[in-house]
Amino acid sequence: MSTAGTVRALQRVIVSVAASDGAGVKLRRSLGQSPYTRLDPFLMLDEFSSFDANDYIAGFPAHPHRGFETVTYLLDGHMLHEDHLGNRGDLKSGAVQWMSAGRGIVHSEMPQQEQGRMRGFQLWINLPAREKMKPAGYRDIDPAEIPVIALRGGGRAKLIAGTLQSEGRSVAGPIQGLATDPLYADVELPAGAAFTQPLGSERNAFIYVFEGSASIGAGDTARALATHSAGVLGAGDRVEVQAGADGARFLLLAGRPLGEPVVQHGPFVMNTREEIEQAIRDYQSGALTRAGD
Ligand code: FE
Repeated sequence: MSTAGTVRALQRVIVSVAASDGAGVKLRRSLGQSPYTRLDPFLMLDEFSSFDANDYIAGFPAHPHRGFETVTYLLDGHMLHEDHLGNRGDLKSGAVQWMSAGRGIVHSEMPQQEQGRMRGFQLWINLPAREKMKPAGYRDIDPAEIPVIALRGGGRAKLIAGTLQSEGRSVAGPIQGLATDPLYADVELPAGAAFTQPLGSERNAFIYVFEGSASIGAGDTARALATHSAGVLGAGDRVEVQAGADGARFLLLAGRPLGEPVVQHGPFVMNTREEIEQAIRDYQSGALTRAGD
C-alpha cells in the first residue's frame, strides 16, 4: 500500500453562503465570497442546485470575462453557451465546459429547460500574468471523455483534469498541461468507504462535499467537513477522505499556486489596478472582444 508520508489535514473550512448571480440564478458560493476566501490559483466556486425553475431560468445573459478560466460542470440539466465569436456549446448532464477567457470574451450561459433539476458547479481558476492576454479558448468535454475510475473499497471518481492513481497506474483526465496543473475530480463513496490519493504540497488543494458527509485526514487529524462547505487542506503528501453513514460525494480540486497579485473587478481578474482599468475601458470600447488589438 502506498500510504507512506503525511496526510493532508483539514486546515480551514469555508462555509458556502447563499448568493445570486447572472440575472438572478440562486447559488451557494464558497471560495470567492470575499477576497479572503480564495485559494491560489482558485478564485471562486459556485454550486447551483434546484428543482425550481424560478431559481435558474433567468440564466446568465451576455457578460464579459478577462484574465482567468471558468469551468462549468453540469451534473443535471441543459445549458446553452454562446459567445461573441459565434461559438456555441450545448452542455448536457455530466458535461464540462473549460473556458479560458484570456484577453476577453463576452458570452451567455442560458438554461434550455423550463422544469426539472438544474445542478452543477462553476469554478474560476486564475491565469498566470503571461497568459492573461492570450486569445480566448474553449474545451467542451462530453461525458464520454471523462474517465470513471472504480475505487478500491467501493465508489468511483470521475476525472475532469489532472491525474489520479488507481491500482498502481496513473489515469489521466481530458484536461492536461495547464500552467496551474489542475486536478478536478468528482468522487462518490458509499457509506464508510475510504478514499486515498497521493497529492503533494506543491499544489494547493480543497474538497467540497455536496452530498452526504465526510471526514478529512487520518487518525488523530481526521475532522468532519459539513456538506456545502469547502475544506482547505494543509501541507502533506496525500489526501485521505472517509465517507459518513450516508456516503459522500465531493469535488477534489488542486492547483499550483501562481503567487502573483490578484486584483479583481467583477468578471475581470488581473494583476494590477491599471490592468483592471484597461479591461473596463476595453469592454466599453469593444476592444475586449476585437481580435488582434
Ligand atoms: Fe460567464
